[in-house]
Amino acid sequence: MHTTKKVRVRFAPSPTGGLHLGGVRTVLYNYLFAKQHQGDFILRIEDTDQSRYVAGAEEYIFNCLKWTGLEPDESPIHGGAYGPYRQSERKALYRQYAEQLVKDGYAYYAFDTPGELEKMRVDFKTTQNPSPQYDLTIRTKMRNSLTLAESEVKKLLDENTRHVIRIKMPENETVTFTDMIRGEVSFNTSVVDDKVLLKADGMPTYHLAVVVDDHLMEISHAFRGEEWLPSAPVHILLWKYLFGLDAMPQWAHLPLILGPNGKLSKRDGAKYGFPVFAMNWTDPKTNELTEGFKEKGFLPEAFINLLAVLGWNDGTEQEIFSKTELIEKFSIERVHSGGAKFDYEKAKWFNHEWIKKLQVSSYGLQVKELLENKGIVITDQARFIQVLELVKERCHLLTDFAEQGAFFFKAPEKYDVDAVKPKWNEAKQVFFAELIRNFELNSNWNAHDLETGFKEMAAAHQIKPGELLLPLRIMLVGGKFGPHVFDIAEILGKEETVVRVKHFLGLLQ
Ligand code: GLU
Repeated sequence: MHTTKKVRVRFAPSPTGGLHLGGVRTVLYNYLFAKQHQGDFILRIEDTDQSRYVAGAEEYIFNCLKWTGLEPDESPIHGGAYGPYRQSERKALYRQYAEQLVKDGYAYYAFDTPGELEKMRVDFKTTQNPSPQYDLTIRTKMRNSLTLAESEVKKLLDENTRHVIRIKMPENETVTFTDMIRGEVSFNTSVVDDKVLLKADGMPTYHLAVVVDDHLMEISHAFRGEEWLPSAPVHILLWKYLFGLDAMPQWAHLPLILGPNGKLSKRDGAKYGFPVFAMNWTDPKTNELTEGFKEKGFLPEAFINLLAVLGWNDGTEQEIFSKTELIEKFSIERVHSGGAKFDYEKAKWFNHEWIKKLQVSSYGLQVKELLENKGIVITDQARFIQVLELVKERCHLLTDFAEQGAFFFKAPEKYDVDAVKPKWNEAKQVFFAELIRNFELNSNWNAHDLETGFKEMAAAHQIKPGELLLPLRIMLVGGKFGPHVFDIAEILGKEETVVRVKHFLGLLQ
C-alpha cells in the first residue's frame, strides 16, 4: 500500500473525438477519489499518436469537463507543477527511458521496414496462429538488435536508419498485480507481444509514455477503462524495469458500459436514439454530428449521478446522489467488476428527479435558450419561473420544457380541432360564449376561483365538466397535454385566455 503518498490521480484521454459516457465516468471516479482524499486530479492529454489526432477534440474535452463540473486541478490549461501536460510537448523526455531499457537488456532496436512486417504477418500465418505478432517466437527471425551483429546495429544507428524500440517480453514469467476492483490479476508474459515503446518518429507509444508520465507526475492511483487491462502486464514490467514496483500506482480497471448489444457504442446511440457523448460532437472530417447528453436536455447533476451508479452503489438502495454525497460515499472497491448496462429510460428518470429536486432558477437559463431557439423570447422573468415550477413534473429532459412551456409565451400555432369537433354541439357553444362573458367580468383571476366558477356554470348548463375541460385545454394549449387547466389560465392571464378561447371558437365555425 502506498499510504504515505499524496493522492494524485489522472484522466488521460487521447484527443481523438467525442467524449463517450464511459470516459466521463472515468473522469468522475478519478475526481471523486481525489476530492475524497484531498488529493489532486490531473488531466493529461495523450496525443502521441499523431495519426489519430483530431482538431478540436482537446478543447471539446475541456468543455465537457466544465459542463459536468469535474474540472481538474492540473492540466494543459489549468497549469500545475508537473507540466507540460500534453505528451506531444514532452517528446524529448521519453527517449532516454527507452534507451535505458535497451542498455539494461529489457528492450531492443528493431529495424524492420513496414514491408518486412507485412511479410512476417503473411509468412508466419498458420491456422493455429492466424495473426502472428512480433513476439518471442518471431523476434528471433526479424531484423533487430537481438539478431544482428553489434557492429551492424551500430552502423544502422549511425546511419540514422529508421527504427523503433520494442520491449523484450520475458519468456514464461507470471506478472501479477492487485487491481483495486478485480483483486489479483495475473498474466503469462509469453502470450504478450513485444510492444513498440518508441516509434520511428521519436514519439513514445502510449505504453512507454503512460508509465513515464505516471511516474514523473507522481500518480498514486491509476483508474482507467477495462479495455486497458490487456496492456497492464507491459506497464507493470516497465514499472519494474524503470522505477521499481514499489513506486507503481495502484490500478483499478473500470467495467465496460454495456449497450443493448455488448459494449455501448456510438452506433447504438444513433440506432436507438440516445446520446452516447457528453456534449454534441461534430467530426471535423465528415461533419457528422453526434448528439450529446447536454444538448439532449440533461442536467449535469443528473448526468454525474447516473454515471456514478453505472457500476457502483453505496450498499444501500439509494440512487439519487449529489456530487457532495458522492465525494463522501464513493469507494473504488465497491465498483463492480462486471459490465454495467446503460438504460436510457433510467437515465431520463434520473434527470426527471433532478429537474424536480433543483431550484428551477438553476436551469432556467438553459431552458430560456431552448425556448429562444424556438423563437420564443422571455421578458417576464417571474412568470417564466412560475411556468417552470408548474410544468417541471412533466419534464424528463430540459427540452421537454420547450413543448410543455412554450404555449405560455406564444399562442399555439396548431390546435387539435379534431379532438373537439366530433363532440361539439350547440349547448357547448352557448356555454363557452357565456364563459367568455364571465371571464371578462372576472375580477378575481386565480386558478381556484376560476375552477369553482367553471364547475358552477357547467352544473347550471347541465353539462358534465369533463366534457368541457378538454375543449378548454385545447383552446389554451393547442393539444391534449399540459398541467392543470386552471393553473394554465391563471398564468396566461385574463386577456390572453379570452383571446385564445375566442380564437378557437372561430376555428370551429
Ligand atoms: N490514453 C488512454 C486513453 O485514451 C489512457 C489510458 C490510461 O488511462 O492509462 O484511454
